[in-house]
Amino acid sequence: MYLYIRWMAVHYDILIAGGGPAGTTAALHLQGSGLRVLLLDKAVFPRDKVCGDALSGNVCFELEKLGLSYASNFEQYPGVLPTQGIRFVSPQGNALDIRLTKTRKGLSAPGYIASRIDFDFFLWQQVKHAGHVEMLENTTVLKAEFLPEKVNVYTTRGVFSTSVVIAADGAHSIFAKHLGYKLDKKHYSAGLRQYYEGVTGFTEDSLIELHFIQDILPGYFWIFPMTGGRANVGIGMLSETISKRKINLKESLQRIIQTHPTISPRFKNARALELPKGFGLPLGSKRLLVSSHRLLLTGDAASLIDPFTGEGIGYAMTSGRLAAETIQSLNNFSEDSLKIYNNLLWSKIGTELSTSYQLQKLLRFPRLFNRVVNKANRHAALHEYIRQMIEEPERKKAWYNPLFYLRFIF
Ligand SMILES: Cc1cc2nc3c(=O)[nH]c(=O)nc-3n(C[C@H](O)[C@H](O)[C@H](O)COP(=O)(O)OP(=O)(O)OC[C@H]3O[C@@H](n4cnc5c(N)ncnc54)[C@H](O)[C@@H]3O)c2cc1C
Repeated sequence: MYLYIRWMAVHYDILIAGGGPAGTTAALHLQGSGLRVLLLDKAVFPRDKVCGDALSGNVCFELEKLGLSYASNFEQYPGVLPTQGIRFVSPQGNALDIRLTKTRKGLSAPGYIASRIDFDFFLWQQVKHAGHVEMLENTTVLKAEFLPEKVNVYTTRGVFSTSVVIAADGAHSIFAKHLGYKLDKKHYSAGLRQYYEGVTGFTEDSLIELHFIQDILPGYFWIFPMTGGRANVGIGMLSETISKRKINLKESLQRIIQTHPTISPRFKNARALELPKGFGLPLGSKRLLVSSHRLLLTGDAASLIDPFTGEGIGYAMTSGRLAAETIQSLNNFSEDSLKIYNNLLWSKIGTELSTSYQLQKLLRFPRLFNRVVNKANRHAALHEYIRQMIEEPERKKAWYNPLFYLRFIF
């Protein structure tokens, strides 16, 4: 009761709602700002989050941005498995292995796999150790009231007053709803994850595997190796396609595991560690306005997931960092001032996400996909070009440049 009254009396400069990768990254970038910050989450950490658990080059870039000690602390954290790249399996069943080469300061691999229960707890603990932010778990935001001079955030532990909110409350964000954003099936995917042990057939350097199986296009089935002989197995598909084709994702997942000619033998002695768990993926194929009066949306709350790969952790961290930097550079949080964040964010990641949207559309042409994979396996120059397109976002645009197809594919 005493604490409840005390919180109500305190005014925060910044309230960060949600302690996933977006919220914790924002909090870490506010170190040394001198601002009074509250980070709250409805969960108690460590907490699970349904995800593929693949940490891409974008995550490595953000760990580097946080600083050397964060990057090397992360690499030594239990449960973190380095991966050297990606195996794409075409609808025809041919594999294209792309080994990436770019590593970041403090890190030895181009990417990692770490269960979210571990990775998010790692970030949460880093904020705690930094000690500059007040943190509350088991505290759910119920609603917010945006007044001209402040914001009142109503939670299960009372009302907090703040000058600005960084919304990092994920795919079902209360703050995104406040801005009128609704689930749009054309720009939303559904995903299922199921942890297994005993799956065989991974490459020695732990490539993550994306299987583009004909009848689940434009989605894919994934198998990602993990530490301790475990694997993250799952399926993701555009919600619009699921509805149109009346697809039952759980059945599709089981069917692939039990009957697919090359996948099912790998599950012969495997054991599911849980029932399939589902969660939504708000895709960044539609550019939302991610700022408003005294409000910045980050991560899934801002719909920033890559529409082709389903990757969202890196973009969540980037948006968290940019939100923290923007707030520190401003002395008022009006709708107009905060548009700087919206423009900055889209200038950094907009092209990458729209290219991925084009790629997602290309999945409607499985023959083209087959051809790219087959050719890249025969021609070193194309193979190398694809590696660069994955590793250097600015090169990604070539995927929808007709000249690329004329030069390499046909
Ligand atoms: C099936 C699936 C597979 C995926 N695979 C990958 C992958 O392999 N790699 C990748 O990079 N991305 C992947 N993603 C996307 C990735 O999970 C998200 O993009 C990422 O978690 C976004 O981070 P965030 O911090 O914005 O949100 P979250 O990680 O969802 O964190 C939001 C936080 O807010 C808290 N919260 C929510 N509501 C409230 C509230 N009302 N009050 C207080 N707290 C609240 C939650 O408890 C949570 O801790 C996948 C997603 C799915 C669904």
